[in-house]
Amino acid sequence: MRCPFCNHEESKVTDSRNATETNAVRRRRECLKCLKRFTTFETIDLTIQVHKRDGRYEDFIQDKLIKGLDSACRHTRISHEQVRALAYKITSDLMERQVKEVSTKEIGAIIMQHLQGLDMIAYIRFACVYRRFKDVDELRDALKTASGKEDFGSYEIENKGIQHAFKEAGHSKI
Ligand SMILES: [Zn+2]
Repeated sequence: MRCPFCNHEESKVTDSRNATETNAVRRRRECLKCLKRFTTFETIDLTIQVHKRDGRYEDFIQDKLIKGLDSACRHTRISHEQVRALAYKITSDLMERQVKEVSTKEIGAIIMQHLQGLDMIAYIRFACVYRRFKDVDELRDALKTASGKEDFGSYEIENKGIQHAFKEAGHSKI
């Protein structure tokens, strides 16, 4: 990438972010010779393919991700803005890793990783849908892994919410 001011070939990237609406990566660069700054847009010409459970493929669409996250984060401490930011982050990560294909299972795992640190209720609600827990034991095991604790005493306060989230996901008992 030549500097538009002095034509020097080397520059360093000072900031990089995805303009997800346009599928482009915007980079602020600084010329190593004249030190002037300029912006480049690199278009990503690949569409990430999502490999679904039933074997079919579909285009990765960020809006779908936002929808899924929104329903998991409903009535939690996570705002819609946080949901959008998280969706951007996940999309950016996939773009930066230059992923061409990703399974719904992988996306689910990435989302769960993020939700785990954000909000327990959203995490469980999402986990119930994505992992399709067969019974309470499976859910309990997943929670153990998530919290790194054997004892669930600390989650007692959130217990009501957990039951509610579990019910909402279509399970009748916990
Ligand atoms: Zn220059």
